Order: sequence, then C-alpha cells, then structure tokens
Amino acid sequence: MKDPCAHCEEMMQPYMDHVLTDAELHEAEAHLAECEGCRRRYKFEESLRVYVRKAADEQMPAELRQKLAALRIPLD
Ligand SMILES: [Zn+2]
Repeated sequence: MKDPCAHCEEMMQPYMDHVLTDAELHEAEAHLAECEGCRRRYKFEESLRVYVRKAADEQMPAELRQKLAALRIPLD
C-alpha cells in the first residue's frame, strides 16, 4: 500500500491544474480533509502558484525566480 501522503503529493500539481479525474479529485479532497500536513502543503503550493503567476505578469527578475524555486523544498 502506497503512502497516502506521497500519493496526495503526486496529485497536487494535476489537482491545481484541474486535470484530475473525478475519482482522483474525490480521493485528493478526501485526503486533504483528514490530513493537516497535506492541507498545509497544498495551501503553500497554491499560494506560491498565485504569487509566481502574479510575479510572472510583472516580469519577475531571474534572481527572484531562483529564490522562489529554492523555496520549493519538501515541507516534512
Ligand atoms: Zn497527507
């Protein structure tokens, strides 16, 4: 049996891209509802995405882009 948190993490990017099937989406949401660690991780990833998208619109300097990339470390 796979670690549910690892599985949730795999689904996180497609989840945010809205490309999951209904079954996968349900699975991801069920896990997020019961797992605080993944919920925090998801919120972090989501806020990072919003920020990166916004910053990209504003022509983010390469240096800042690298700093943001460095932030994408595992939270556990
Ligand atoms: Zn989890």
